[in-house]
Amino acid sequence: MKQTVPLIVGNWKMNPVTMADAVALSIAIARKQKTALEPQVVIAPSFPHLSEVGKKIKKSTVALAAQDVYTQPLGPFTGEVSITQLKDLGVQYVIVGHSERRALGETDELVCEKVQVILKHQLIPIVCIGERERDEQANFFTLIEDQLRSLAEVLPAAAIKKVVVAYEPIWAIGTGNTATVEDVKEMQLFIETVLTKLYDRSTARKVRLLYGGSVKPENAALLHQEGDMEGFLVGGASLKAEDFAAIIKAVS
Ligand code: PEP
Repeated sequence: MKQTVPLIVGNWKMNPVTMADAVALSIAIARKQKTALEPQVVIAPSFPHLSEVGKKIKKSTVALAAQDVYTQPLGPFTGEVSITQLKDLGVQYVIVGHSERRALGETDELVCEKVQVILKHQLIPIVCIGERERDEQANFFTLIEDQLRSLAEVLPAAAIKKVVVAYEPIWAIGTGNTATVEDVKEMQLFIETVLTKLYDRSTARKVRLLYGGSVKPENAALLHQEGDMEGFLVGGASLKAEDFAAIIKAVS
């Protein structure tokens, strides 16, 4: 396993409904994390909650993430949120290309544009990749390779090293159908091999890899120890402070 600080990212999606609940959840998470620097804990509330949650976690070691961003830093784009606005709120990480956004039409090209604007403004992109299903012929590996290649077409080695790649098989997201340790380990090796081919070994080793898809307190330790990724992107289990804390503890 690489000797990097593990990263645990909580993707709150469109939850919770109220600001009060979002603030309470962020306080509970920050309290449990105390001043610990390892693993790096990141929470991604929905846009309306970013500002208040950001204020509540400001003095903690928990970092703030957004769930998406627009490609343009400013301008007349009704309904969009810019990287400059996110930066102003203290956002440090931005999730891009989540399968739920790709399902709404986000393409690899759009993901790449977003990654570039995020890096240009010195924030950290968390790029989600993953297959919808696994076929007998293992063609899904080609899709993963294509997703990585589209990044390599626009990002030089110095830039890809700053990207976090989250492998999230769509069939595992929100289904309780977690990938096996063998699946995760195999994908870690595959992604590193593809990145080595697209860049070089030293660059490939510097790209942080996360696993996401039904990570729970019960499976986190084994997935972390034997899956060889450097942390998790957590959806459902990040909405309960106790469960999220147990996942954090499992990689500590
Ligand atoms: C996600 O939405 O990125 C995710 C991994 O969700 P869950 O943990 O609920 O599967």
